[in-house]
Amino acid sequence: MRLLPRLFLSHASVVALTVAALFVLAELLAPTFISHHVEEMAALIGPAGRSLRDDLSRGMRDTFTGALLVASGIALCLSFLTAYLAARRVVRAVRLLSAGSLAIAEGNYLRRLPEEGQDELTDLARNFNRMARTLAEVEASRVELITNVAHELRTPLTALQGYAEALNDGVLPPGHASAAILRETRAMERLTGDLSLVSRVEAGKIDLQVRTITVADLLSAAQERFSLLAENRGLTLVVTPAEQALTVQADPERAAQVLANLLSNAVKYTPPGGTIRVAAAQTAKGVAIRVQDDGPGLAPEDQRRIFERFYRTDLSRSRAATGGGGTGVGLTIARGLARAMVGDVTVFSSAVGGSVFTFSLPAGTSA
Ligand code: ADP
Repeated sequence: MRLLPRLFLSHASVVALTVAALFVLAELLAPTFISHHVEEMAALIGPAGRSLRDDLSRGMRDTFTGALLVASGIALCLSFLTAYLAARRVVRAVRLLSAGSLAIAEGNYLRRLPEEGQDELTDLARNFNRMARTLAEVEASRVELITNVAHELRTPLTALQGYAEALNDGVLPPGHASAAILRETRAMERLTGDLSLVSRVEAGKIDLQVRTITVADLLSAAQERFSLLAENRGLTLVVTPAEQALTVQADPERAAQVLANLLSNAVKYTPPGGTIRVAAAQTAKGVAIRVQDDGPGLAPEDQRRIFERFYRTDLSRSRAATGGGGTGVGLTIARGLARAMVGDVTVFSSAVGGSVFTFSLPAGTSA
């Protein structure tokens, strides 16, 4: 049986049983009350009243039963109507939910349910809508991811194809072509590595070996890794040595990777002649490592969006065209890793230029 008749029948049968019980009870109790009143009235009337006793009693019982029947009929009609309306409201919500779920199952993530009222059915509709919104966001980000990946892979693939054709046509000497092919395949390898890491970071599936590490070691390793690169680009790298007592709770490799992403950006986007400063300081919650450059800085809109995956500023996009830009996932990875270690990466850039990226980590448990 369908839900509407089932709900209606269950409500209606409860009401019908209650009315029937009331009717029977009233009919059973009525003679006692009525005879009591009849006796009182007969006494008031006097000797003539005795002969009227039976008529009075019958008249009162008939009137009482008639009134009870009419009242029960009206009560039943009203209750059936209310039962029908209540059942219809529940069934309507269930039908809407069922149609909505079907639409979602068929990939229509824009389907929403009406959120009228304050009861549990409205809560259900609200939660359904929230689920649909989340699914729509996940779907949009999946499509965006595929589009971006396809776009990012197309550039090195086109270059590879060009070199292979040139090699085939004998236009390019083999040594030159193989070096170029190697460069492009390395770029693709880096890109696929970044993509796999960014998806693992976003899914929270990163294996972390967290322990207490010394900030001074982290900074000196970064200095060693980047000083030559900075020098080659005509930049000055100034790393302020951290106190030995300054420690953080982190996975050493992942923390080094976050710092490397910030430093490689600073090196990439600061024009020759610029200075990059790295320093660490104790904060209320732990330690903040600042990577500051005097490059072009970032507009407020860019500061809000650079941590989104594949987001690049116009400057980076124009550099990518000449092979100098990135893929736009470095900061997504950096922030994801930092947050996985209960830290964060934030940015500050003023209108006068230069950017400050702050990498924070919780304090180490032992000095
Ligand atoms: P990419 O691989 O493009 O460098 P990131 O996620 O590391 O990607 O950075 C996102 C964007 O943020 C970059 O494309 C660049 O436009 C901007 N950006 C990052 N660091 C800096 C910086 N130090 N100075 C100016 N712009 C920066």
